[in-house]
Amino acid sequence: MMIVAKNISKSFGALQALKGVSFSINNGEVFGLLGPNGAGKSTTINILNSLLKADGGEMYIDGRDASKEQHACKMLLGVVPQEIALYEELSAYENLMFWGSLYDIPKKKLKAEADKTLELVGLFERRYDAVKNYSGGMKRRINIASALLHRPKVLLMDEPTVGVDPQSRNRIFEVIERLNSEGMTIVYTTHYMEEAERLCDRIGIIDEGAIAAQGTLKELREISQVRDVLVLELGNLKEMDLDALKSVMQVEEVDTPANKVKIACQNVGQEIIPIVKKVQDMGGNIQGIDTIKANLETVFLKLTGKQLRD
Ligand code: ADP
Ligand code: MG
Repeated sequence: MMIVAKNISKSFGALQALKGVSFSINNGEVFGLLGPNGAGKSTTINILNSLLKADGGEMYIDGRDASKEQHACKMLLGVVPQEIALYEELSAYENLMFWGSLYDIPKKKLKAEADKTLELVGLFERRYDAVKNYSGGMKRRINIASALLHRPKVLLMDEPTVGVDPQSRNRIFEVIERLNSEGMTIVYTTHYMEEAERLCDRIGIIDEGAIAAQGTLKELREISQVRDVLVLELGNLKEMDLDALKSVMQVEEVDTPANKVKIACQNVGQEIIPIVKKVQDMGGNIQGIDTIKANLETVFLKLTGKQLRD
């Protein structure tokens, strides 16, 4: 395990921001923390990197107790905070040299690392321009570069694509995939379920300061017991023997005015043809077919009772 968090709690005055958050992150995986605004994602990230102190709970980074080995843990982590922190008047290169000096990296090595990370985020050509002339997406990419200078084992990224142009967004995804393919563990918070689905090996679903469930998308589908849905429009629905239909498939809903039946499936892609055949064998006159695949949005809704809006 690269990161283990056990029962982390944190209050701000009367507000309980984290109510006993536990998760574990494997070495080399991209772990997503998915939840709406105010769920507790940034609080969790800030506790992981010791910017905030938890009220209770335990945390281990690469086997080290974060409360006892703060410096060692700091060196293991690279942090891309939700709020961009850069010196606007300085160039990208100067910003990186400043951030690197905070990690006691020798000058010569730091220069080499700055060049390498600038190349990685696609801003090497622009390295001597003042940051104030950069777009939001470019600033974000410099923020990512600055988190990588000391070669951390784990990169914590807090909603790195919010307010970012599509080109920078794609570049950020490529950077994550590249770093991860080289073995880096990534913790990625987002309220965009498409991002979590695309990037993450495992996902922790966080809502109101608690982890509702964690696992791969497949595991989350099983835990939350969501199903795909096959919608069949039947010209002769009113004449059909619905009890017979229900005895051979999982009919979730019969919408008589619209002539539609909704059938629950584990995997609609695999089950669609056998189901269609059965319905036809039973005399069904199929006039329309629609499929609804269960995704993270469905999982989130099932687990929290809420819509996760983008
Ligand atoms: P997220 O990053 O998922 O949007 P946060 O971790 O920032 O959520 O916030 C969780 C909850 O804690 C929210 O209700 C937020 O308003 C509150 N909160 C966060 N930081 C502070 C703070 N410094 N003081 C008071 N309340 C805070
Ligand atoms: Mg946040």
